[in-house]
Amino acid sequence: MSPTVAKPRSKPHALLAYEALFRQLLANYRHHEAIVSEYKREKAGYDGERNVDYKLSTFPQKGFYVFQGIRLENPPFHFQIDTLILTRRLIYILEIKNQQGTLKYDSKLKQMIQEIDGKIISHKDPILQAEAQKTQLREWLAMHGIFNIPIVGLVVIAYPSTIIENVREDPDVYNQIIHRESLHQHLTRLSNNHPDNILTNAQLKKLCHTLKAKDIPLWTDVLAKHGVSDRHLIKGTPCQQCGYAPIQRLNKNWKCPKCSSINPKAHERTILDHFLLHQQTITNKECRNLLQIDSPRMAYNFLNSMNLRKSGNNRGRIYYSPSIQSFPQNSKVPVNFQHHFAKLSLD
Ligand SMILES: [Zn+2]
Repeated sequence: MSPTVAKPRSKPHALLAYEALFRQLLANYRHHEAIVSEYKREKAGYDGERNVDYKLSTFPQKGFYVFQGIRLENPPFHFQIDTLILTRRLIYILEIKNQQGTLKYDSKLKQMIQEIDGKIISHKDPILQAEAQKTQLREWLAMHGIFNIPIVGLVVIAYPSTIIENVREDPDVYNQIIHRESLHQHLTRLSNNHPDNILTNAQLKKLCHTLKAKDIPLWTDVLAKHGVSDRHLIKGTPCQQCGYAPIQRLNKNWKCPKCSSINPKAHERTILDHFLLHQQTITNKECRNLLQIDSPRMAYNFLNSMNLRKSGNNRGRIYYSPSIQSFPQNSKVPVNFQHHFAKLSLD
């Protein structure tokens, strides 16, 4: 007995894009403070969410359908939910917080202050955030013909070492901002408060399907965000062992002139990084320029072997990026760059 994962979590586009950026930046730009700090922020958010995913996966309950991260459109806006749990009785929204140190929540002033390493940082009110998501989701459900299902929000603090202070000792807050460790208890409490089935099994199944189909992952232009242009980036394909660029294509293999390592498929990572950083399409000509090769035949073979969606014919053919969930999940910042930001945890 455990919840069903209706949509598994995958790395958000921004996280994959920062990993790609560290592969593609020239060495002297890799310490760029804003880039390193945004990467750390994305990574911490993802790690915190995975931490809560694990706790939820051990909840001994059937009939819970978990969407590990979903972004829906309620025109003209999009709204993102860290974790959505669909049941026949009610819908749970989990707003996951990865902040460490001490979190002081003031329910009168509607503010959350984080104290860490002698610094004081102000954050958005997480309860208001969860409330806003409830409103957006309620409108979205109404557009899809569902009106009467209750929606509840929980702010889940991902790490047990974080201290939560309810400054006003507001009794409601104890049930709204919770530690990951008490997640099961609060899910059970809320479930007991809503004993009646609202959705039929058929409605539940249909809603599961619709939610998955309507998920629109966010793509972030990290190059534009940090003012990165071609002059900051390597040309060609980098060596996955030592980072040297460009490596050379010889006898159906990519060979690094510096460390002599060999990789027949090194171009695939470079093409995927192009999709993450530049644009979600590529032509044969763009591929040749990207990989610094002359042969249209070689580019054709490379692109075709990746089973990408494509349109058009011959010279006009366009190849499309895979969906964000289909990118390799085991990618990470190259080992030889890690000393630039030693405080990072890199699993
Ligand atoms: Zn090398």
